[in-house]
Amino acid sequence: QFPFGRRLPCDIYWHGVSFHDNDIFSGQVNKFPGMTEMVRKITLSRAVRTMQDLFPLEYNFYPRSWILPEEFPLFVDEVRMMKDSDPSWKPTFIVKPDGGCQGDGIYLIKDPSDIRLTGSSQSRPAVVQEYICKPLLVDKLKFDIRLYVLLKSLEPLEIYIAKDGLSRFCTEPYQEPTLKNLHQVFMHLTNYSLNIHSGNFIHSDNVNTGSKRTFSSILCRLSSRGADVKKLWSDIISLVIKTIIALTPELKVYYQSDIPAGKPGPTCFQILGFDILLMKNLKPMLLEVNANPSMRIEHEQELSPGVFENVPSPVDEEVKVAVIRDTLRLVDPQKKKR
Ligand code: ADP
Repeated sequence: QFPFGRRLPCDIYWHGVSFHDNDIFSGQVNKFPGMTEMVRKITLSRAVRTMQDLFPLEYNFYPRSWILPEEFPLFVDEVRMMKDSDPSWKPTFIVKPDGGCQGDGIYLIKDPSDIRLTGSSQSRPAVVQEYICKPLLVDKLKFDIRLYVLLKSLEPLEIYIAKDGLSRFCTEPYQEPTLKNLHQVFMHLTNYSLNIHSGNFIHSDNVNTGSKRTFSSILCRLSSRGADVKKLWSDIISLVIKTIIALTPELKVYYQSDIPAGKPGPTCFQILGFDILLMKNLKPMLLEVNANPSMRIEHEQELSPGVFENVPSPVDEEVKVAVIRDTLRLVDPQKKKR
Protein backbone atom coordinates (compact mmCIF):
# COMPACT_ATOMS: atom_id res chain seq x y z
CA GLN A 1 0.00 0.00 0.00
CA PHE A 2 1.22 3.47 -0.86
CA PRO A 3 1.25 5.33 2.42
CA PHE A 4 -0.50 8.67 2.34
CA GLY A 5 2.03 11.47 2.15
CA ARG A 6 4.88 9.33 0.82
CA ARG A 7 7.17 11.36 -1.41
CA LEU A 8 9.77 8.85 -2.56
CA PRO A 9 8.99 7.56 -6.05
CA CYS A 10 8.43 3.84 -6.71
CA ASP A 11 9.72 1.59 -9.47
CA ILE A 12 6.33 0.01 -10.07
CA TYR A 13 2.88 1.36 -9.21
CA TRP A 14 0.16 -1.28 -9.02
CA HIS A 15 -3.32 0.26 -9.16
CA GLY A 16 -6.40 -1.76 -8.30
CA VAL A 17 -8.76 -0.41 -10.95
CA SER A 18 -7.58 2.20 -13.42
CA PHE A 19 -4.96 4.82 -14.16
CA HIS A 20 -5.94 7.87 -12.17
CA ASP A 21 -2.87 9.66 -10.80
CA ASN A 22 -1.56 12.77 -12.44
CA ASP A 23 1.34 13.15 -10.07
CA ILE A 24 3.45 10.11 -10.91
CA PHE A 25 6.55 11.31 -12.72
CA SER A 26 8.66 8.17 -13.04
CA GLY A 27 8.52 4.40 -12.77
CA GLN A 28 5.95 2.11 -14.33
CA VAL A 29 2.21 2.02 -13.82
CA ASN A 30 0.16 -1.15 -14.31
CA LYS A 31 -2.67 0.60 -16.19
CA PHE A 32 -2.90 2.55 -19.43
CA PRO A 33 -4.92 5.75 -19.47
CA GLY A 34 -8.20 5.17 -21.30
CA MET A 35 -8.00 1.36 -21.32
CA THR A 36 -11.15 0.88 -19.25
CA GLU A 37 -13.10 3.08 -21.68
CA MET A 38 -11.59 1.40 -24.76
CA VAL A 39 -12.62 -2.13 -23.80
CA ARG A 40 -16.20 -1.33 -22.83
CA LYS A 41 -18.54 -3.38 -24.98
CA ILE A 42 -19.62 -0.55 -27.29
CA THR A 43 -16.18 1.01 -27.76
CA LEU A 44 -14.56 -2.37 -28.41
CA SER A 45 -17.28 -3.26 -30.94
CA ARG A 46 -16.77 0.08 -32.72
CA ALA A 47 -12.99 -0.29 -32.81
CA VAL A 48 -13.19 -3.84 -34.16
CA ARG A 49 -15.89 -2.88 -36.67
CA THR A 50 -13.68 -0.11 -38.10
CA MET A 51 -11.07 -2.76 -38.78
CA GLN A 52 -13.69 -5.22 -40.10
CA ASP A 53 -14.73 -2.61 -42.66
CA LEU A 54 -11.11 -2.29 -43.80
CA PHE A 55 -9.97 -5.90 -43.46
CA PRO A 56 -13.08 -8.14 -43.33
CA LEU A 57 -11.23 -11.42 -43.58
CA GLU A 58 -8.54 -10.54 -41.05
CA TYR A 59 -11.15 -9.49 -38.50
CA ASN A 60 -13.68 -12.29 -38.87
CA PHE A 61 -12.97 -13.48 -35.30
CA TYR A 62 -15.56 -11.10 -33.83
CA PRO A 63 -19.31 -11.81 -34.13
CA ARG A 64 -21.36 -9.43 -36.24
CA SER A 65 -22.54 -6.72 -33.81
CA TRP A 66 -24.83 -3.71 -33.66
CA ILE A 67 -24.85 -0.87 -31.15
CA LEU A 68 -28.13 -0.12 -29.40
CA PRO A 69 -30.22 1.91 -29.34
CA GLU A 70 -28.76 3.91 -32.27
CA GLU A 71 -28.33 1.01 -34.68
CA PHE A 72 -31.61 -0.71 -33.89
CA PRO A 73 -33.16 0.20 -37.30
CA LEU A 74 -30.00 -0.98 -39.07
CA PHE A 75 -30.08 -4.25 -37.06
CA VAL A 76 -33.72 -4.85 -38.06
CA ASP A 77 -33.02 -4.08 -41.75
CA GLU A 78 -29.87 -6.17 -42.02
CA VAL A 79 -31.42 -9.19 -40.31
CA ARG A 80 -34.46 -8.95 -42.59
CA MET A 81 -32.23 -8.74 -45.67
CA MET A 82 -30.11 -11.70 -44.59
CA LYS A 83 -33.21 -13.77 -43.84
CA ASP A 84 -34.68 -12.87 -47.24
CA SER A 85 -31.57 -13.95 -49.04
CA ASP A 86 -31.24 -17.17 -47.02
CA PRO A 87 -34.60 -18.40 -45.65
CA SER A 88 -32.88 -21.35 -43.94
CA TRP A 89 -30.90 -18.94 -41.69
CA LYS A 90 -32.35 -19.21 -38.18
CA PRO A 91 -30.14 -16.94 -36.11
CA THR A 92 -30.02 -16.24 -32.40
CA PHE A 93 -28.73 -12.97 -30.97
CA ILE A 94 -27.24 -12.05 -27.61
CA VAL A 95 -27.93 -8.65 -26.06
CA LYS A 96 -25.31 -7.28 -23.67
CA PRO A 97 -25.67 -3.99 -21.78
CA ASP A 98 -22.71 -1.66 -22.20
CA GLY A 99 -20.51 -1.52 -19.13
CA GLY A 100 -22.07 -4.70 -17.75
CA CYS A 101 -19.97 -7.59 -16.52
CA GLN A 102 -20.40 -11.06 -15.05
CA GLY A 103 -23.30 -11.79 -17.36
CA ASP A 104 -25.31 -8.96 -15.83
CA GLY A 105 -28.41 -8.04 -17.89
CA ILE A 106 -27.50 -10.38 -20.77
CA TYR A 107 -30.28 -12.18 -22.65
CA LEU A 108 -30.79 -14.15 -25.85
CA ILE A 109 -33.35 -13.42 -28.55
CA LYS A 110 -34.46 -15.01 -31.78
CA ASP A 111 -35.84 -11.92 -33.47
CA PRO A 112 -34.97 -8.20 -33.38
CA SER A 113 -38.51 -7.47 -32.22
CA ASP A 114 -37.71 -9.28 -28.94
CA ILE A 115 -35.29 -6.56 -27.86
CA ARG A 116 -36.46 -4.84 -24.72
CA LEU A 117 -36.11 -1.22 -25.79
CA THR A 118 -38.67 0.23 -23.44
CA GLY A 119 -38.42 0.61 -19.68
CA SER A 120 -35.66 2.61 -18.02
CA SER A 121 -33.07 -0.08 -17.25
CA GLN A 122 -33.49 -1.87 -20.57
CA SER A 123 -33.12 1.19 -22.75
CA ARG A 124 -29.54 1.61 -21.64
CA PRO A 125 -26.89 1.34 -24.34
CA ALA A 126 -26.03 -2.22 -25.32
CA VAL A 127 -24.41 -4.36 -27.96
CA VAL A 128 -26.45 -6.99 -29.76
CA GLN A 129 -24.48 -9.63 -31.59
CA GLU A 130 -24.87 -12.83 -33.45
CA TYR A 131 -24.90 -15.72 -31.00
CA ILE A 132 -22.37 -18.45 -31.74
CA CYS A 133 -24.66 -21.48 -31.82
CA LYS A 134 -22.08 -24.19 -32.35
CA PRO A 135 -19.40 -23.83 -29.68
CA LEU A 136 -16.86 -26.55 -29.00
CA LEU A 137 -18.11 -28.73 -26.15
CA VAL A 138 -16.11 -30.66 -23.61
CA ASP A 139 -18.05 -33.21 -21.52
CA LYS A 140 -21.16 -31.92 -23.37
CA LEU A 141 -20.66 -28.48 -21.76
CA LYS A 142 -20.02 -25.07 -23.27
CA PHE A 143 -16.94 -23.30 -21.93
CA ASP A 144 -14.91 -20.19 -22.67
CA ILE A 145 -11.27 -19.32 -22.26
CA ARG A 146 -9.81 -16.51 -20.20
CA LEU A 147 -6.34 -15.66 -21.43
CA TYR A 148 -4.03 -13.15 -19.80
CA VAL A 149 -2.23 -10.76 -22.09
CA LEU A 150 0.44 -8.31 -21.04
CA LEU A 151 0.52 -5.11 -23.06
CA LYS A 152 4.04 -4.10 -22.13
CA SER A 153 4.35 -1.07 -24.35
CA LEU A 154 2.29 0.78 -26.96
CA GLU A 155 5.21 2.26 -28.83
CA PRO A 156 6.86 0.04 -29.91
CA LEU A 157 3.95 -2.38 -29.59
CA GLU A 158 4.99 -5.20 -27.23
CA ILE A 159 2.52 -7.94 -26.36
CA TYR A 160 3.03 -11.09 -24.29
CA ILE A 161 0.46 -13.87 -23.99
CA ALA A 162 0.45 -16.17 -20.98
CA LYS A 163 0.89 -19.79 -22.01
CA ASP A 164 -1.84 -20.97 -19.71
CA GLY A 165 -5.26 -19.54 -19.00
CA LEU A 166 -8.56 -20.60 -17.48
CA SER A 167 -11.46 -22.49 -19.01
CA ARG A 168 -14.77 -21.65 -17.41
CA PHE A 169 -17.55 -24.15 -17.83
CA CYS A 170 -21.30 -23.97 -18.01
CA THR A 171 -23.12 -26.23 -15.58
CA GLU A 172 -25.98 -27.56 -17.77
CA PRO A 173 -25.39 -29.68 -20.87
CA TYR A 174 -25.43 -27.49 -23.98
CA GLN A 175 -28.22 -27.50 -26.54
CA GLU A 176 -28.46 -25.22 -29.53
CA PRO A 177 -30.72 -22.29 -28.70
CA THR A 178 -34.46 -22.78 -29.07
CA LEU A 179 -37.31 -20.61 -27.82
CA LYS A 180 -37.64 -23.09 -24.94
CA ASN A 181 -34.07 -22.95 -23.64
CA LEU A 182 -33.05 -19.34 -24.49
CA HIS A 183 -33.39 -18.22 -20.89
CA GLN A 184 -31.30 -21.05 -19.41
CA VAL A 185 -28.20 -19.15 -18.31
CA PHE A 186 -26.39 -22.22 -16.94
CA MET A 187 -26.53 -23.69 -20.45
CA HIS A 188 -25.60 -20.61 -22.52
CA LEU A 189 -23.47 -18.29 -20.38
CA THR A 190 -20.08 -19.41 -19.12
CA ASN A 191 -19.65 -16.71 -16.46
CA TYR A 192 -18.19 -18.11 -13.25
CA SER A 193 -20.21 -15.59 -11.23
CA LEU A 194 -23.46 -17.07 -12.61
CA ASN A 195 -22.60 -20.76 -12.69
CA ILE A 196 -21.32 -20.75 -9.14
CA HIS A 197 -25.00 -20.47 -8.13
CA SER A 198 -25.93 -23.65 -9.99
CA GLY A 199 -26.30 -26.80 -7.92
CA ASN A 200 -24.09 -28.52 -10.53
CA PHE A 201 -21.05 -26.27 -10.03
CA ILE A 202 -17.96 -28.30 -9.15
CA HIS A 203 -15.07 -26.54 -7.41
CA SER A 204 -11.97 -27.97 -9.05
CA ASP A 205 -9.45 -29.57 -6.76
CA ASN A 206 -7.08 -30.14 -9.69
CA VAL A 207 -6.46 -28.43 -13.01
CA ASN A 208 -8.34 -30.79 -15.34
CA THR A 209 -11.73 -31.43 -13.77
CA GLY A 210 -14.59 -29.35 -12.42
CA SER A 211 -16.20 -26.13 -13.57
CA LYS A 212 -12.97 -24.13 -13.87
CA ARG A 213 -9.94 -25.80 -15.43
CA THR A 214 -6.66 -24.73 -16.94
CA PHE A 215 -6.68 -24.07 -20.69
CA SER A 216 -3.63 -26.32 -21.01
CA SER A 217 -5.67 -29.26 -19.69
CA ILE A 218 -8.24 -28.61 -22.46
CA LEU A 219 -5.45 -28.43 -25.05
CA CYS A 220 -4.16 -31.80 -23.84
CA ARG A 221 -7.64 -33.29 -24.30
CA LEU A 222 -7.96 -31.76 -27.77
CA SER A 223 -4.54 -32.88 -28.81
CA SER A 224 -5.29 -36.46 -27.73
CA ARG A 225 -8.40 -36.28 -29.95
CA GLY A 226 -6.10 -35.35 -32.83
CA ALA A 227 -6.82 -31.61 -32.97
CA ASP A 228 -4.23 -29.27 -34.46
CA VAL A 229 -3.32 -27.44 -31.26
CA LYS A 230 -0.44 -25.54 -32.87
CA LYS A 231 -2.79 -23.99 -35.43
CA LEU A 232 -5.24 -23.14 -32.65
CA TRP A 233 -2.53 -21.29 -30.71
CA SER A 234 -1.42 -19.42 -33.77
CA ASP A 235 -5.05 -18.35 -34.46
CA ILE A 236 -5.40 -17.20 -30.85
CA ILE A 237 -2.18 -15.22 -31.03
CA SER A 238 -3.27 -13.45 -34.17
CA LEU A 239 -6.70 -12.70 -32.65
CA VAL A 240 -4.99 -11.07 -29.66
CA ILE A 241 -2.57 -9.03 -31.75
CA LYS A 242 -5.26 -7.84 -34.18
CA THR A 243 -7.57 -6.85 -31.32
CA ILE A 244 -4.85 -4.77 -29.70
CA ILE A 245 -3.99 -3.20 -33.05
CA ALA A 246 -7.65 -2.14 -33.34
CA LEU A 247 -7.44 -0.41 -29.94
CA THR A 248 -4.02 1.15 -30.40
CA PRO A 249 -4.82 4.42 -32.26
CA GLU A 250 -7.20 5.65 -29.57
CA LEU A 251 -5.03 4.33 -26.74
CA LYS A 252 -2.19 6.44 -28.11
CA VAL A 253 -4.39 9.54 -28.04
CA TYR A 254 -5.25 8.89 -24.38
CA TYR A 255 -1.60 8.21 -23.60
CA GLN A 256 -0.33 11.38 -25.23
CA SER A 257 -2.88 13.54 -23.49
CA ASP A 258 -2.16 12.07 -20.03
CA ILE A 259 1.57 11.56 -20.41
CA PRO A 260 2.80 14.00 -23.07
CA ALA A 261 6.05 13.02 -24.76
CA GLY A 262 9.06 14.95 -23.47
CA LYS A 263 7.52 15.65 -20.06
CA PRO A 264 8.38 13.59 -16.96
CA GLY A 265 5.89 10.83 -16.42
CA PRO A 266 5.65 7.08 -15.88
CA THR A 267 5.55 4.41 -18.54
CA CYS A 268 2.59 2.06 -18.57
CA PHE A 269 1.93 -1.65 -18.89
CA GLN A 270 -1.28 -3.62 -18.35
CA ILE A 271 -2.53 -7.16 -17.88
CA LEU A 272 -5.67 -7.68 -19.97
CA GLY A 273 -8.13 -10.56 -19.69
CA PHE A 274 -9.20 -11.85 -23.12
CA ASP A 275 -12.42 -13.89 -23.18
CA ILE A 276 -12.45 -16.25 -26.13
CA LEU A 277 -14.97 -18.84 -27.29
CA LEU A 278 -13.89 -21.78 -29.43
CA MET A 279 -16.28 -22.79 -32.17
CA LYS A 280 -16.91 -26.44 -32.93
CA ASN A 281 -14.43 -26.18 -35.82
CA LEU A 282 -11.83 -24.83 -33.33
CA LYS A 283 -11.96 -21.29 -34.64
CA PRO A 284 -11.40 -18.87 -31.73
CA MET A 285 -13.90 -15.99 -31.45
CA LEU A 286 -13.35 -12.91 -29.32
CA LEU A 287 -16.10 -12.28 -26.77
CA GLU A 288 -14.62 -9.43 -24.81
CA VAL A 289 -11.57 -7.84 -23.28
CA ASN A 290 -11.34 -7.09 -19.59
CA ALA A 291 -9.16 -4.20 -18.42
CA ASN A 292 -9.25 -5.29 -14.83
CA PRO A 293 -9.31 -9.09 -14.75
CA SER A 294 -9.81 -10.67 -11.35
CA MET A 295 -6.56 -11.89 -9.82
CA ARG A 296 -8.25 -13.71 -6.95
CA ILE A 297 -6.71 -17.06 -6.12
CA GLU A 298 -9.32 -18.03 -3.59
CA HIS A 299 -13.00 -18.75 -3.76
CA GLU A 300 -15.77 -18.56 -1.24
CA GLN A 301 -17.14 -21.77 0.19
CA GLU A 302 -20.36 -22.03 2.14
CA LEU A 303 -19.51 -24.02 5.26
CA SER A 304 -23.03 -23.99 6.63
CA PRO A 305 -26.05 -21.98 5.48
CA GLY A 306 -24.98 -18.33 5.35
CA VAL A 307 -21.46 -19.01 6.70
CA PHE A 308 -18.72 -18.46 4.11
CA GLU A 309 -15.00 -19.02 4.18
CA ASN A 310 -12.27 -18.22 1.65
CA VAL A 311 -10.46 -21.34 0.49
CA PRO A 312 -7.53 -21.61 -1.95
CA SER A 313 -8.41 -22.35 -5.56
CA PRO A 314 -5.58 -24.46 -7.08
CA VAL A 315 -6.58 -23.70 -10.68
CA ASP A 316 -6.61 -19.92 -10.20
CA GLU A 317 -3.36 -20.12 -8.28
CA GLU A 318 -1.60 -22.15 -10.96
CA VAL A 319 -2.48 -19.65 -13.69
CA LYS A 320 -2.58 -16.27 -11.99
CA VAL A 321 0.54 -16.50 -9.84
CA ALA A 322 2.52 -17.24 -13.00
CA VAL A 323 0.93 -14.27 -14.79
CA ILE A 324 1.84 -11.80 -12.03
CA ARG A 325 5.31 -13.31 -11.59
CA ASP A 326 6.15 -13.15 -15.28
CA THR A 327 4.69 -9.66 -15.62
CA LEU A 328 6.89 -8.38 -12.82
CA ARG A 329 9.89 -10.08 -14.39
CA LEU A 330 9.14 -8.50 -17.77
CA VAL A 331 8.72 -4.99 -16.43
CA ASP A 332 11.55 -5.36 -13.87
CA PRO A 333 13.27 -1.97 -13.74
CA GLN A 334 16.60 -3.53 -12.66
CA LYS A 335 16.61 -5.64 -15.78
CA LYS A 336 15.84 -2.58 -17.89
CA LYS A 337 18.90 -0.78 -16.50
CA ARG A 338 21.08 -3.74 -17.36
P1 ADP B 1 -19.88 -10.19 -19.45
O1 ADP B 1 -18.91 -9.07 -19.48
O2 ADP B 1 -21.17 -9.80 -18.80
O3 ADP B 1 -19.29 -11.46 -18.94
P2 ADP B 1 -19.62 -11.38 -22.11
O4 ADP B 1 -19.55 -10.65 -23.39
O5 ADP B 1 -18.35 -11.99 -21.63
O6 ADP B 1 -20.26 -10.42 -21.01
O7 ADP B 1 -20.72 -12.49 -22.25
C1 ADP B 1 -21.08 -13.34 -21.17
C2 ADP B 1 -21.09 -14.78 -21.63
O8 ADP B 1 -22.06 -14.96 -22.67
C3 ADP B 1 -19.78 -15.25 -22.24
O9 ADP B 1 -18.91 -15.68 -21.25
C4 ADP B 1 -20.25 -16.38 -23.15
O10 ADP B 1 -20.42 -17.57 -22.43
C5 ADP B 1 -21.60 -15.89 -23.62
N1 ADP B 1 -21.50 -15.18 -24.92
C6 ADP B 1 -21.21 -13.85 -25.08
N2 ADP B 1 -21.24 -13.51 -26.38
C7 ADP B 1 -21.54 -14.63 -27.07
C8 ADP B 1 -21.73 -14.92 -28.46
N3 ADP B 1 -21.65 -13.98 -29.41
N4 ADP B 1 -22.03 -16.19 -28.80
C9 ADP B 1 -22.16 -17.17 -27.84
N5 ADP B 1 -22.00 -16.95 -26.53
C10 ADP B 1 -21.70 -15.70 -26.13
